[in-house]
Amino acid sequence: MDSSKLACKGLSENDTQCSHPVVANSDYCWKHGNWFALDLEIIRMVDQHFRDEASLFWQRSNFFLLAEALLFSTVVSTIQGESGLDRSLVIIVSAFGLVLTAFWYMAGSTGRKWLGHWRDQRIELSETFDRYQRDAKVERIAKEPWTTATQITQYLPLLFVLGWMGLVIQYLIR
Ligand SMILES: [Zn+2]
Repeated sequence: MDSSKLACKGLSENDTQCSHPVVANSDYCWKHGNWFALDLEIIRMVDQHFRDEASLFWQRSNFFLLAEALLFSTVVSTIQGESGLDRSLVIIVSAFGLVLTAFWYMAGSTGRKWLGHWRDQRIELSETFDRYQRDAKVERIAKEPWTTATQITQYLPLLFVLGWMGLVIQYLIR
């Protein structure tokens, strides 16, 4: 059904049914709908989604960093022990470390994509509703490379790749 042909449920000045077409998915026209309150609700919802996504991003980041650091330091300290470590075990643990690093990188890059989607929504809302476009101005800067911590830390897994590769190579040629 074409919603533009439905009549608004609001009343005109002379208490007769309003004859204006309804706004999509609603019962009211542009004049009679409570749009300001609804728009404010949408802005709050998008803002909350963005903040949830950002907090999830750092939780995941911290989890991987902690897991990798623990695994790496355990292997290194065991190697440095007087008895030394079984060669094949070092290689297996290092291979596991490399796979974990790959998941870390993928989880990070997916998280950054979702943050970017919500950022775009914030820019769009700001362009639509804020005549000063405060949010849009700042969020556009954040979309440029090397401007946010989430972008900079994307290369952190690379350090661990080098570490694990170093261990694998050292123990393969030994
Ligand atoms: Zn109306």
